[in-house]
Amino acid sequence: MAIRNSPDTMQPAYFCPLPGYAVTVTRPSTARIALNRPLRRLFDYRIPETMTVSPGQRVKVPFGRQTLTGLVVETGVTPPDGITLKPILEVLEPWLALPTATFQLLSWASDYYQHPLGECLFTALPPALRRGRPSQQKQDEHWQGTQNIAPLPANAHRQKALLESIQRAPGISTGELVKAGFNRPQIKSLRDKGLIELSDPQHPTSSESIVTVDGPRLSPAQLAAAKELPQVTDRFSATLLYGITGSGKTELYLHYLTQKLQDDQQALVLVPEINLTPQTLERFRRYFGNRIVAWHSALNDSERLATWLRIRHGEPVILIGTRSAVLLPFTNLRAIVVDEEHDNSYKQGEGFRYSGRDVAVYRAHLNQCPVILGSATPSLESWHNARQGKYHLIRLEQRAGNALPPEVALLDIRSRPLEAGLSRPTLNAIKETLARGEQALVFVNRRGFAPIMMCFDCGHMEECPRCDTRLTYHRRDRAMRCHHCDLHMAASHSCPKCRSENFKPVGQGTERTEETLAEQFPDTPIVRVDRDSTQRKGSIQSILAKVNSGDPCILVGTQMLAKGHDFPNVTLVAVVNADGGLFSVDFRAPEQMVQTLLQVSGRAGRGEKPGKVLIQTCHSDHPLLKSLCQGSYAALADQLLAERQIGALPPFRAMAILRAEADTMQASLQLLDSIKPMTAANGIETWGPLPAVIARKADRHRAQLILCSDSRKQLNRLLSQICQHLDQSKLPASTKWIVDVDPQETG
Ligand code: ADP
Ligand code: ZN
Ligand code: ZN
Repeated sequence: MAIRNSPDTMQPAYFCPLPGYAVTVTRPSTARIALNRPLRRLFDYRIPETMTVSPGQRVKVPFGRQTLTGLVVETGVTPPDGITLKPILEVLEPWLALPTATFQLLSWASDYYQHPLGECLFTALPPALRRGRPSQQKQDEHWQGTQNIAPLPANAHRQKALLESIQRAPGISTGELVKAGFNRPQIKSLRDKGLIELSDPQHPTSSESIVTVDGPRLSPAQLAAAKELPQVTDRFSATLLYGITGSGKTELYLHYLTQKLQDDQQALVLVPEINLTPQTLERFRRYFGNRIVAWHSALNDSERLATWLRIRHGEPVILIGTRSAVLLPFTNLRAIVVDEEHDNSYKQGEGFRYSGRDVAVYRAHLNQCPVILGSATPSLESWHNARQGKYHLIRLEQRAGNALPPEVALLDIRSRPLEAGLSRPTLNAIKETLARGEQALVFVNRRGFAPIMMCFDCGHMEECPRCDTRLTYHRRDRAMRCHHCDLHMAASHSCPKCRSENFKPVGQGTERTEETLAEQFPDTPIVRVDRDSTQRKGSIQSILAKVNSGDPCILVGTQMLAKGHDFPNVTLVAVVNADGGLFSVDFRAPEQMVQTLLQVSGRAGRGEKPGKVLIQTCHSDHPLLKSLCQGSYAALADQLLAERQIGALPPFRAMAILRAEADTMQASLQLLDSIKPMTAANGIETWGPLPAVIARKADRHRAQLILCSDSRKQLNRLLSQICQHLDQSKLPASTKWIVDVDPQETG
C-alpha cells in the first residue's frame, strides 16, 4: 500500500503518524519523475535504499547519456513488468522545491491547459534551479545601527544618508543598499567606525512592514466599497471590483492589505506590465517598505532565485508581479489581487498558454483565501461570473479626490481633410489645451492600422515575402518591417513593380503623427510612447518624469498609453482612429476595442481639472461607439454579453483552438481534418478547419480548428484524447500542432 504523505512536512514517506503510535509501512522504492521536456509523459526511477523522496522534491536522474534535473511527481509506482529502473542519483535539497499547494496548482493547470506536466512544473522554478543548480545562496549580509554615537565628518553626505537608511530599515541587506545607490566601501567604513553591525540573519527584519505614509482618507464611495471587500482571509472568495478609471482602486487594495494582512502573511498583487507602471510599485513601497518585492521579466537569474527563495521560505512579502508570479511557491498566501484583470497580457501567448488571472482564481480556491479582480473595464468572463453571482460585484463609479469623469465626444471624420490622420477640430482642441498650460494625449490605435508603403500610380503595396501580411513602414530608419517574422529591409524610393516615384507611406503610425504634431506645435515637447521608444531600460521612467512635471506637452502613443498610468495634467485625449475593432473577424475584437478606448479615455482629467475625450471615427452612428459616449462600461458589457450569448460564444461556452502549421497548407489542413471525426462526440461543435487569418507566417502555413462545448469537462476530456492521439501519430518533423484553451485570439 502506498501512503500519500503530506509533502509539506519533512516526514519521510513511509512514516505514518497515527495518534499514540507509529506504523511503518513498506518504503516506496520507485518514483515517477517529471522532466523539463515537451513530452506528455513521466519517467520512472528506482529510489536507492539510502534515499527518501517526496512529491515536489528536486532530484538528479540519468537520462540517456545525460544527467537531468527532475521533479518527483509520485512515489511507490509500479513500473511495467520486465523493466529495470535506473536509480535516482541525488536529492538536490531536503525540502520540497514545489510545496503541496503549488504542486497541485500546476498539476491542475497542466490538465486544464493540456500542457505537458514536466514543462508546467519547471515553469514554476527559477532558471537556476531548472538547470540543476544548488538552491543555497550566498547569505547576504543584513545590517542594523549600533548604540554608538560617533560624529561623521560634515562633508560625508553619502555615509550619513547610508546610516539613516540603515537606521530607518534595520535588517536591510547589502544587496538592497547597493540597489539604493550605496557601495560596499561606504558600508565597510560605517562598520569600521562601529556605527553599524550585522543583524541576525535568521531573523531578517528587512521584510517587516514600514508604513511610512498615511494614505488619503477614503472617500465615502471607497469606504462603502471597502466594507464590501472580503472580511476574512482564511476562506475562498472571489470579488470583482468594477471601479471606473481613477476611482481609487489601487488605494483600496492598499487599504485592504494594511487592514487584513497580518505581519507574517504573504500576499500577491498581479499587474499586467510592471515596467510600464513604476508608479504602482512606488505607491506600494510607500505603504509597505521592504515588504514589497517585485517580480517581472527584467530580473536577472540571481535576483530571480533570491526572490523565489524568500517566497518559498515563507517570508511575509507582498509580491507585485506579472503573470508568472502566480506560479511562485508561496507557503502562506492569504490574499491575491489581480489589477487590470481584463488585460490581455495575463494570457501567455506561447508554450504553456495559461491565463494568470484564471490561475489566480484557482489558486485562491486551493489556498482558501480571497482573490480580488479589479478593473474599470472587466473582461466579459469576469463580468459574466459576477452577473451569475459567482463573483461578488463591487461597483465604484465615482472618481476619487475631486476628479470628474471625462466628457467623451465622437468626431466623424468622413470627408474631412486630415493631416497624418488628425482633423482640424482635433488640432484646435490640442491647441486650446496647450494654451491653458495643460497636456494632451494623442492615441494611435495600432491594431489594424499600421503605416504601409503604397504606389499611388499602380496601387502596389509592399508585402512580406514570407508572410501573408503587409510590411509596416518605419520612418525613423526608413525601414520596412514585418511584425510577424523578423524580416526588415530598407524602404525603396520607387515602386518595385512599376518604378513610379509616387511610392509613399499611407496610414497612421505613431511616428508620422509625431512628426505632424511637431510641425503644427513647434514649441511644444512631443513625447512618443510605443514599443520602439520604450525598449531601452529606464526609458519609460524618464518619459513619465517628463509628463509628471506637468509642463505642457503632447503625448503620442499606442496601446501602452492605455495601461493604468496616472497623468494628473492630461486633460485632453484624442483618439486618432477608433474603428479597428468594429468589423474584425475575431469575436473578442469589439470587447477589446471598447476596453482600450475607455482605458485611454480614463487618462483624461485625473487631477483637479476636468478632462475631455475626442474620438475620431468613420462610423459615428455605430451603436457601440454611441454607448461608449454615454460612458458606462457596465451597460456596454451587458450589451456585448448579450451578443456573445446569441452567438453561443465564450463565456457562455468553453472554447479551445487546435492549431497546426506545416510546410504546406494542405498538410496543416489534413492534420486537422484527421482530428475532426474525434470531435463528433456529443456536445462538441467545431468550426473549420480553416486557414488562419494570417495563413502564412515566416513561410509556414497555418490552419486552425475551433472547438466549442457547453461542457468544459467534456471539452477537456476530448482535448486529452486529441493530444494523446497526436502524440502517438507519426507526423512529419516539420508539422507542428498546439492546443490553446480559452484562446484570446481566434484569427
Ligand atoms: P485607480 O486604481 O482606480 O485608477 P487610483 O487608486 O490610482 O485609482 O486613484 C486615482 C488617483 O486618485 C490617484 O492619484 C490617487 O492618489 C487619488 N486618490 C485615490 N483615492 C483618493 C482619496 N480617497 N482621496 C484623494 N485622492 C485619492
Ligand atoms: Zn507602382
Ligand atoms: Zn514576415
